Amino acid sequence: MSLTYESAAIPQAPHVSEPFEQAQNLPLDYRPRVPQAPLVRTELPGPLSARLLERQAVRESNARTYPRKLPIAVRKAEGSFIEDLDGNVFLDFLAGAGVLSLGHGHPELVASAQNQLDRYVHGLDFPTPVKDEFTELTIGMLPAGMQDRTKIHFCGPTGANAVDAAIKLCKTATGREGVVSFQGGFHGSSLAAMSVTGLVEQKEPVRGGMPGVQFFPYSHCRRCPLALTRDTCATNCATYLENALTDSNGGVPLPAAVIMEIVQGEGGAIPADLQFVRQIRSVTRRLGIPLIVDEVQTGCGRTGTWFAFEQYGIEPDVVVASKALSGMGLPAAVILYDEKLDVWAPGAHTGTFRGNQMAFAAGATAIKVIRRDDVLGNVRARGAQLTARLEALREITPYVADVRGLGLMLGMELADPATGLPAATLAKAVQQGAVKRGLIVELGGREDCVVRMLPPLNVTAEQVDMAGDILDAALREAVAALSV
Ligand code: PMP
Repeated sequence: MSLTYESAAIPQAPHVSEPFEQAQNLPLDYRPRVPQAPLVRTELPGPLSARLLERQAVRESNARTYPRKLPIAVRKAEGSFIEDLDGNVFLDFLAGAGVLSLGHGHPELVASAQNQLDRYVHGLDFPTPVKDEFTELTIGMLPAGMQDRTKIHFCGPTGANAVDAAIKLCKTATGREGVVSFQGGFHGSSLAAMSVTGLVEQKEPVRGGMPGVQFFPYSHCRRCPLALTRDTCATNCATYLENALTDSNGGVPLPAAVIMEIVQGEGGAIPADLQFVRQIRSVTRRLGIPLIVDEVQTGCGRTGTWFAFEQYGIEPDVVVASKALSGMGLPAAVILYDEKLDVWAPGAHTGTFRGNQMAFAAGATAIKVIRRDDVLGNVRARGAQLTARLEALREITPYVADVRGLGLMLGMELADPATGLPAATLAKAVQQGAVKRGLIVELGGREDCVVRMLPPLNVTAEQVDMAGDILDAALREAVAALSV
């Protein structure tokens, strides 16, 4: 069956090739309905998606990313599902790269944003009632002991901008230059955030970057950077950093900050080792080095607690949050930090788009909904369910080398059982096999050999099972193709 814009039964969402007036004629109470089950009825891309993908390829930057691997043009989305222009429906386990904590278009968040739309939209950093409530609730996500000494700064609305702000804050407060970061980490694409990111391929063409960045090994125990095993390890990666920072001949001047992810996201869903995090916290505290925890991806409930650091029993000096702050993809980014660091000057980190009032309105509602509906409990339950489904895939092939993550930030690493080398082609085949069956997943980690899942936090048990079934079929097909 071929769908055209004209023949589709539902009203059309605004679209680049439609006249603007048509978009404006949508009824005010228009709300797209997307079938709540995966269904792929065309080859991918379908003909209508292909048309837009071609137009995109002609006009948009070579640096575009997602549509290269997931060849769809989106018409609408609802809950955990996305519908493309050809009427194909996908279960969305990418969720806007972890942004859509309550799925696409959660009705209560949409209502809050709409309600704000004709009151006040662009707020710079003026106080408003909705910003005040958002601030209260956002600081309220922190453990009780941290709340009274926490300051919040609203940044330009991206994770990278907030990472930049965190680094600037710590440099200003300490008067020092260097920043310690960890191999495998990802912190964003601005020049400073990229400088503290592990991805060599991204950095290589852009020589220079922020000076003074030192990379240390992360507790990636499956592929231990120090070639240790669990039996021989006394968290030597943390000790290695500790020695470098305390050795008078270690070559590393005391840095302005240490920045880390508690679960490396883009790095392949790698939760840090508990002792590693605790030792890093203890040495940074002892030496007076601010510890920045980048919770851009792990924050706002993704790992089953508001912030992942809570599960490690530590308190950072700076917390970076962005992606899921509004719960529905409206842009916001903040740093939450110890008031002792608050010595930077007025205007030290400005940005025109720091005050999106719709994001604040939706974000305040998101926090209330997550509390009311025990969404964090759902994250833990669905996380365990999805982990079990992924673990079961080990029976299909020994290429499933690891299943890991925290809450609903999960990954399945594929590696050659004989050599241990990343099985990048297999991972890509699984992603392709999944999308053609109606499941969107991401790849990450070394050579993109980790199939990553970031479903909405209110994903249902039934949807997790749908995803498990699709991954099972996709993996079987990909493995069969390997052996022919
Ligand atoms: N930090 C982490 C941990 C991230 O995962 C990301 C985005 N994937 C960023 C920072 C950068 O966020 P943004 O893309 O909004 O700049």
